[in-house]
Amino acid sequence: MQSENFLTAFFKNLKMKNQKGVRIVFVMYQLKTSAAFDSAHFLSGYQGKCANLHGHHWSLEVCIQGGTLQAQGTKRGMLLDFSDFKKIVRRLADDFDHALIYEENSLKDTTISALQQENFKLIPVPFPPTAENFAEHFFQLLTEQGLTVCQVTVYETPDNCAVYTEGK
Ligand SMILES: [Zn+2]
Repeated sequence: MQSENFLTAFFKNLKMKNQKGVRIVFVMYQLKTSAAFDSAHFLSGYQGKCANLHGHHWSLEVCIQGGTLQAQGTKRGMLLDFSDFKKIVRRLADDFDHALIYEENSLKDTTISALQQENFKLIPVPFPPTAENFAEHFFQLLTEQGLTVCQVTVYETPDNCAVYTEGK
C-alpha cells in the first residue's frame, strides 16, 4: 500500500524539463519552520550529570515536503501557507513549554503527587526524554495532524541536535 502511494506520488510529481533532451526530474518542495520551548527533564538511569533534574531551551525545526503546489485560490503557488504551518508547530512547542517532562515510572508516586499539589505542569512520556526521542515523537504528532513531515530536528543546545527522518 505504501509503495503504491509512493509510486502514485512519484509519477504525479515527475516533470519533463528541457525540451531538447530527455531529462526527467522528480520534483519536491520542502518548507521548514522552527519553534522553541523551555522545559526540564532528567535521564533516569543515566550515569552522569544528565541524571539530575535540569532544563533546556529546546528548539525544534520541522521540515515538510510535497510535490504539488496549490493551484487555485488565495494560497496559489504554496505547498502550505507558512502562517498555518507555523501555527501548528508553535502549538506543539507551547504544549511542551515550561513543564517537567519525565519518563513514565521514573518518579515515585509520592513525588508526582507532591509536584501535582504544587500545580506544576508535568508531562509523562513513554520513553527516555532525549533529543532523539523528542524528534521522533514530534514527527509522529505532527504527521497525525496531517503534515507531510519529512524531518524533525531537535536542538538541546545550540551546538547539539538530533535529527529524525523516515524512509518512505
Ligand atoms: Zn538534558
